Amino acid sequence: MEDVVNLEECFLDSPPYRQRLARCDTYLQEVEQCLRTVLKTARTVITGTEELSEHYNAFAECLTELGRLEANRPTRETYQPFDGDMASWTAGQHIMFLAEELKRIETARKSFALQLETVLVDPLDSLARTDLCVAREYRKRWERSGTEYLHENSKFMSRKSKDAGLAEGAAEVASLRRTYHEASLEYAARMGEVLGKEQLRISEAVLGLCQSRMLLCEKEHAVLDDIAPNLRLLEQFSATFRTRVNSLHDDYDIQRQTIMQKSVNRYNPLQADTTDGAGVVDKSGYLYKRSSHAMRPVWSRRFFSLHDNCLEYYTMEGKNNASTVLIDLRLCTVKRLELSDRRLCFEIVSPVKTYTLQAENEREMEEWIRAIQTSIREAIQGGVDSAATPNPPRSESPCQEMLSSYLPGTSIEASLDEQQRRRIRAVPGNGSCADCGMSDPEWASLSLGILVCIECSGIHRSLGVHKSKVRSLRLDYWEPEHIEIMTALGNERVQAIFETTYRESEVAFYRKPSATSAHEEKEQWIIAKYDLTKFIAPWTGGNVARAVQQGDLATCLHWLATGHDVNSLQDELTQSTALLLAIDASQWTVTALLLLWAASLTDCDIRQQSALHHLAHSTTLPLPLLVSILRRNPPLATPDIHGDDPLSIAVRHAHGDFVTILRMFQHDTRTVEDPGSGVKKPPLRRLLRGKFYRRLTPRRRRSLSSAMEELSPFGRKHWPHRRSHSHTDSLSGVGIGDGTNISRLKREDSSRDGIASSSRSGEDLSQSGENPSRSGEDPSHSGGDPSQDEEDSSQYEKDTILDPNQRPNQCPNQGPGRNTRPRDREPASE
Ligand SMILES: [Zn+2]
Repeated sequence: MEDVVNLEECFLDSPPYRQRLARCDTYLQEVEQCLRTVLKTARTVITGTEELSEHYNAFAECLTELGRLEANRPTRETYQPFDGDMASWTAGQHIMFLAEELKRIETARKSFALQLETVLVDPLDSLARTDLCVAREYRKRWERSGTEYLHENSKFMSRKSKDAGLAEGAAEVASLRRTYHEASLEYAARMGEVLGKEQLRISEAVLGLCQSRMLLCEKEHAVLDDIAPNLRLLEQFSATFRTRVNSLHDDYDIQRQTIMQKSVNRYNPLQADTTDGAGVVDKSGYLYKRSSHAMRPVWSRRFFSLHDNCLEYYTMEGKNNASTVLIDLRLCTVKRLELSDRRLCFEIVSPVKTYTLQAENEREMEEWIRAIQTSIREAIQGGVDSAATPNPPRSESPCQEMLSSYLPGTSIEASLDEQQRRRIRAVPGNGSCADCGMSDPEWASLSLGILVCIECSGIHRSLGVHKSKVRSLRLDYWEPEHIEIMTALGNERVQAIFETTYRESEVAFYRKPSATSAHEEKEQWIIAKYDLTKFIAPWTGGNVARAVQQGDLATCLHWLATGHDVNSLQDELTQSTALLLAIDASQWTVTALLLLWAASLTDCDIRQQSALHHLAHSTTLPLPLLVSILRRNPPLATPDIHGDDPLSIAVRHAHGDFVTILRMFQHDTRTVEDPGSGVKKPPLRRLLRGKFYRRLTPRRRRSLSSAMEELSPFGRKHWPHRRSHSHTDSLSGVGIGDGTNISRLKREDSSRDGIASSSRSGEDLSQSGENPSRSGEDPSHSGGDPSQDEEDSSQYEKDTILDPNQRPNQCPNQGPGRNTRPRDREPASE
């Protein structure tokens, strides 16, 4: 360093010294110039690197997306030619992985750009801006003080020795010289300092640059090492794909031609091509399906598919959210159908509904029928035991839920337990199928009271539910009364009715089939036996009324099977049907049987009392039977000639359970009518058109019509739309599962009528201090009362608003003075 700047020489200030200083100065100026260019380009590199990084990242994102698509491709094929962790990866997963690794490289590149900033740009910038500039400032000071000194010095040198101010001039020159020397020293020292600093900074910066670059390279290498196995796998993928793609074109070409040749006979819908097609089991294709609207059937094209002994079809054609409906063929029969308006039709009869289908040509229809038949046969042979899970219970209505909570432990319907099954099987004759004799039959015909094998059960089902209502001992849910029918009848007794005139010895057209007989033979037999009743003993005019009243189920069945109208009058005096007689005699098994044979719940006796009125009188009515009757949607609140509806009769008899259940169903009916629930035909409107309406007195009709007006869209705003509202609304008086409310209801009722209620509410009465001593009902009390209607409504008010204190707890929409009564009342008083 002393070569450049030697502070000793400052005082001497020789020309070589000055030249050296000048050279250094020029050098520093050039360095500054150059540094500015370096900084400028370095900044460009940094921005460029950052941009490049961003572009690469965006690119990696796109690659990831592409990989994701590839990984989820609809025709995903799995190649497993590789071992190790990634063996099961698809090409798409590899692409996604590689894209992620690319992002790792970009992260490294970004930190490289950041490092360039700190190790290169920042130090060099500070060198150029601060240190070099400072050196320049010192040089200027040095030059300035030099000029001043030289000027004074030359003036001083020209003075004579006797000059007066010589001493003062000398002092000034000395001072200036000192200043000049100081500035010179300062400048030289700074110069030396900057020269050293500059060298260090530049070498450091370049070193930093190289190190950062190397770090980036290392990271890239690490990533490449990591992805090497993926690259190899992807390479193998590519090789596999390449071979396949090369042959794809030819393969598809051949397939296309083969398929075209195969289907050449299938285009013309009129051409019946009957080659091959036998033994098809898994068939699928389009069929036209008739909608279940009885009045205006619509035929829609639906895709059906037959597999695993089930028939499945798509409900919504051509939509992504198409759902499928599964038909369990074990319980179905299939047959050709001659329709007047459509050709090539066949139908599938299942326990739930009948599907009417149309094929596009003769061959298709043949194939479908044959395939379904094969499936049914296979299902019956192989699938009996495998299907041990019972059908799911029917979806419960809100009412049903309430019922379950109200009648805990009283399941309305349930699958049979082993004991019940044993009871049914122990009935004489039930050890073998009633029709073909196959042992251990598992299916029951409820309306006939017999057990049959699965094959015969399918034929029974095809007879229709009005002839034979089929249930499985294992798969279905049973109502309690049906168990009673099954134990009261049984194969032996029913055979005695339906096979009385059958003689095996005769060379008859019909022959009783055995377990091994052909399906057609069994079908013929069952149709002849139950549908055509070929072998039944003629009805000789027995006393049906007595049989009903005595609970003689076999006679009842004989009477029904010989084609008599179940709703014909059996007691001319009271105009009662068999059903009403059975209810009056508390013959619940007969009642259930008559209901299975479609006994009418709307037919009334001479007092215009329907079955529900009669039930309301009964004290021994099993609640499950009541619920299954209510499920058949009987008119809930028709008035009899005295204006009493079933509810008021039950209230009078203090049948708390009956009242509660009936109210729940009334409430349920109204909930169903709610437009939000999507039911097309409100029961009320349907009843308005029925014979029910025709039987009403003109006055009743008027009040019904006004109720209908209230139901119109304009009157609906007060209608309880939400269930929670309507619950509180209609059930506020009769709490569900709350015995106190029910007893309160009874209490109110009995205090109104001035009679004590039955012993069931006696303790409530005594608690409330009312007089329980007055007892004994007076049925004639309400009969023939001219003010019945008014009293009726006041009674209703009491029924509904039992406790004035409860009023504010009701639904906020229902103000205390609101006229809600008629609306609540009318659906119950069609
Ligand atoms: Zn059978």
